[in-house]
Amino acid sequence: MDVERYRVPPGSRVELSEWDPEDQQLYNGSKEKGKKALLPLNRRLETLQELLYAENKHRLLVVLQGADTAGKDGTIRHVFEGVNPQGVKVASFKVPTPVELAHDYLWRVHQQMPGRGEIVIFNRSHYEDVLVVRVHNLVAGEVWQRRYEQINAFEAMLADEGTTILKFFLHISKEEQKKRLEERLTDRKKQWKFSRGDLAERQHWDRYTEAYEAMLSKTSTAQAPWYIVPANRKWYRNLVVSQVILAALERLEMRYPEPESGLDAVVIE
Ligand code: AMP
Ligand code: MG
Repeated sequence: MDVERYRVPPGSRVELSEWDPEDQQLYNGSKEKGKKALLPLNRRLETLQELLYAENKHRLLVVLQGADTAGKDGTIRHVFEGVNPQGVKVASFKVPTPVELAHDYLWRVHQQMPGRGEIVIFNRSHYEDVLVVRVHNLVAGEVWQRRYEQINAFEAMLADEGTTILKFFLHISKEEQKKRLEERLTDRKKQWKFSRGDLAERQHWDRYTEAYEAMLSKTSTAQAPWYIVPANRKWYRNLVVSQVILAALERLEMRYPEPESGLDAVVIE
């Protein structure tokens, strides 16, 4: 699977209409087969996460963005299935609290960054500050406009200091969102997820699309690339995200730390 086809090259101008949310070019199996194909990937991630933790050298940040119902929660659940919970943390970014609003927009985000040996998954992120904030004019235009560069500088600093950053935009169609919202309305087990607020956001679909395109065009860098994940099919979305993470971890060429010398002479009585 050459998932690099979904990476946004730095400096390119993204038009989301050119990216097919139904795409499944890298895997021509059925849904059932696609689901099964994730299992060995889960096992590999489990092994690599343990190595990351043991080596205690690198940090990994995974950023998930996407419209309501795009599958941010589902991606976390499925891609990280079976991974030791001790080495992975999820940080979800909601409407900022008064304390968070009293600080700069990166303050709450910086605190959640992974330490050495850790993986942190961002369920939404500092990108909300150029998405919902832009769509709803929550700050003046000149304030959100300068954030793209600020975010690039912030992420460059993190990468220079040893954090691997992978950013995923889960791309669903407007029709697929309709289907998923309808399920939330009618399925007893999904009703808890239904929010009238999501319907209000759906009214702004086109403005969100513009904001996503600007984000993807301006903030996909060599050190912190965006991947546009075809997300209408959940199993395909999971396969793509998993493969990108595995490839990045493998590129780190991690090793178990050298044991202290003289271990061969130690006798356990
Ligand atoms: P959910 O992910 O469904 O729990 O919803 C979280 C909500 O918080 C979404 O509607 C986001 O748009 C909103 N949110 C997250 N970050 C911000 C932010 N910086 N400013 C305003 N709203 C935000
Ligand atoms: Mg929601």
